[in-house]
Amino acid sequence: MQKSKVYFSDLRTSPTCNLLDKMERLVRKAGLEKLPLKDNFVAIKIHFGEPGNLAYIRPNYAARMANILRKLGAKPFLTDCNTLYSGKRSNAVDHLQSAMENGFNPISAQCQVIIGDGLKGTDYREIPIPDAEYCPAPKIGTAIADADIIVSMNHFKGHEQAGFGGALKNLGMGCASVGGKLELHAASQPKIVTEHCIGCNICVKHCAHNAIHLDSQTRKAYIDYDTCVGCGQCVALCQHDAAVVNDWDTSERLNYKIAEYTKAVLLSKPNFHVSFIMNVSPECDCWNHNDAAIVPDLGILASSDPVALDMACADLVMQAPILHNNNILAEKHNHEDLCGQDKFHLIHPDTDWKAGLHHAEKMGIGTTHYELITV
Ligand code: SF4
Ligand code: SF4
Repeated sequence: MQKSKVYFSDLRTSPTCNLLDKMERLVRKAGLEKLPLKDNFVAIKIHFGEPGNLAYIRPNYAARMANILRKLGAKPFLTDCNTLYSGKRSNAVDHLQSAMENGFNPISAQCQVIIGDGLKGTDYREIPIPDAEYCPAPKIGTAIADADIIVSMNHFKGHEQAGFGGALKNLGMGCASVGGKLELHAASQPKIVTEHCIGCNICVKHCAHNAIHLDSQTRKAYIDYDTCVGCGQCVALCQHDAAVVNDWDTSERLNYKIAEYTKAVLLSKPNFHVSFIMNVSPECDCWNHNDAAIVPDLGILASSDPVALDMACADLVMQAPILHNNNILAEKHNHEDLCGQDKFHLIHPDTDWKAGLHHAEKMGIGTTHYELITV
């Protein structure tokens, strides 16, 4: 089987080559310049970090990437889509404010910041995937769907539902509109938490399927489950946490769906991916805190194959010894180094990241077989 090339750079620096220089050298070596960049819109997909979380990728890296792309003739912009849950990134106004607080703004990032699925997460394009088993038409944020080229910058860390968050998670989940995220997360249609509902009628007005109504007596919303198609529009629009996700999907199915969404994001688009194994926190950057890192900072990796990239990052973390500071793994395995063990599975035993990588491979997104080239 043909192996994909994954390029690796460690984190040693010198007065003539800092980490930004090292990242630039890495991505150039890994083939960034081979993309058809001239005059094309390049969506740099990154996670801006929930305020309070400090493990996200530093904006300095995004600024350097934007500069490289612009010098090569492209029109880059930084992007992410709104979240499904309430928090400080669930609409474009709060999301941009959070991004700014975390250092991502047009001045520091040296390019424009665009929220991919619009003001309230309802701006998306459905991209048909003929061979999909779970999500035949992923709902991808319009700005990302309209971009000519996708570059992902991924913070590699644990994830409470997917096992780990890397390139596939950043692309498949991160580029989904709010309705898309509902499809990814939920095994069924949303539900109404009546105590939270203020009867504002917004969900009723915007349900394209006439499936949500206000009770004439209580003035609370209710869903007609015979008509509801689970599009997620009401979840996106409700600002009171009253229309919410019903049951969360299993990790295995979530990872299958993330793979299919990734296929939709990358379909017919040149793409390139960079992952940072730094601050490997046990959980997602969507949390408003980041628990202590579980392994040392290992390096920066780049590839044109996001599956191979995730596999290489997972292997490096599995091979690494755990840190013996006060972290979630050291707490339980104080006298072990856990080299060679699946640390993400130890932290989140109900997760199954391998399922997602194998499904992505089956969908033709890439391969788990790779050659690691040190730059
Ligand atoms: S948008 Fe939310 S608060 Fe308003 S009626 Fe619908 S469920 Fe209730
Ligand atoms: S999920 Fe979509 S179809 Fe179902 S009630 Fe909400 S807006 Fe209507």
